[in-house]
Amino acid sequence: MIALFDAYPRLAQALPHVALATLPSPVQRAEAFGRAIGVDAIYIKRDDAYAPQYGGNKVRKLEFLLGRALADEARTVLTFGAAGSNHALATALYAREVGLHPVALLVPQHNSRSVQRNLLRHIPLQTELLPFETGGQIALGTAKAFYRHARKDGRFPQVIPPGGSSPTGLVGFVNAAFELRQQIDAGLLPAPARVYAASGTMGTVVGLLLGFAAAGLDSTVVAVRVTWEKFTSMAKARRLFHTTNFLLREADPSFPLLDFPEDRFVLRDEFFGDDYGLWTPAGLEAMALAKELLNLKLEGTYTGKALAALVADARARQLASGPALFWNTYNSVDFAPAIAGLDYHALPAPLHPYFETPVQPLERDEAKGTV
Ligand SMILES: *Cc1c(COP(=O)(O)O)cnc(C)c1O
Repeated sequence: MIALFDAYPRLAQALPHVALATLPSPVQRAEAFGRAIGVDAIYIKRDDAYAPQYGGNKVRKLEFLLGRALADEARTVLTFGAAGSNHALATALYAREVGLHPVALLVPQHNSRSVQRNLLRHIPLQTELLPFETGGQIALGTAKAFYRHARKDGRFPQVIPPGGSSPTGLVGFVNAAFELRQQIDAGLLPAPARVYAASGTMGTVVGLLLGFAAAGLDSTVVAVRVTWEKFTSMAKARRLFHTTNFLLREADPSFPLLDFPEDRFVLRDEFFGDDYGLWTPAGLEAMALAKELLNLKLEGTYTGKALAALVADARARQLASGPALFWNTYNSVDFAPAIAGLDYHALPAPLHPYFETPVQPLERDEAKGTV
């Protein structure tokens, strides 16, 4: 079910789409969790388990990105991420599912068990993994991979930007906003005053912001920055908002031309910590609360930090204005069976250190139960 197409049927003709997730994703009221942080109405949007193989926010974007790649008759998709990128994994997994060859250029990140698991998951997918150091080499590596596959396939690979956050990818989250609107209209939850989500490449938060404006919802989007400003900034938010709006209007001229809703978008910097992929004590505490009171496994790179913002605002009595919604962008489908018994030596050698060195200190403490 694509709620956006219900509202704008011409978009269904103009925008190629491939169904990967079971939509709508559920919403859930978090009563015990709300009580623990002193708030009455907290809801969770469960994008974590809405696709049988692998959930998380990238699936919504890939429905449109891979739809586009298939319509363009691409054979290869080429994308980017950190070594343990959820985006690179989701792209590889669903590219295979629709018959495309996945290539991922990976840059280093802090180690964690989820990095190890995600890397192992690429082995049976036979993702073409190209590890690089951050910097100039990656541009050259991209160009080389691009032309190598162009020659092999007889056509250009489809390039999917980091996080899948192109205007085409964002349409998945514009749709998510219309989906939430339908769930509100159906009485499944009240209209949230604030919606919290992690912001990596901004596709999630800006797609929602645009979708809320178009769907007539006045919820404030609280974007919790978890990466460097090159990837998450106000300038980028405005750019993505308008380019995605143009794409939708071009596809269906009855889609409104919207102003960037300055007063409904809040970018939060104080939960980032010291680096992308480096856990924080506040994030770790939020993860523990989620595990205990919601039976939800989050992680320290994105969702722990985003939920920490909601928890801090609740404790500072900032959530009195109405219900708050936490958008769970992480996968919770257990893929342990798919990686059982796999040997990391099947991965390119530059990735082996993730399996030969310890995970980051906060994750070690968590495993020992000392936090
Ligand atoms: C990629 C990712 C995000 C960030 O989403 P963007 O749309 O890139 O901002 C948030 N949470 C998780 C778990 C992710 O994998």
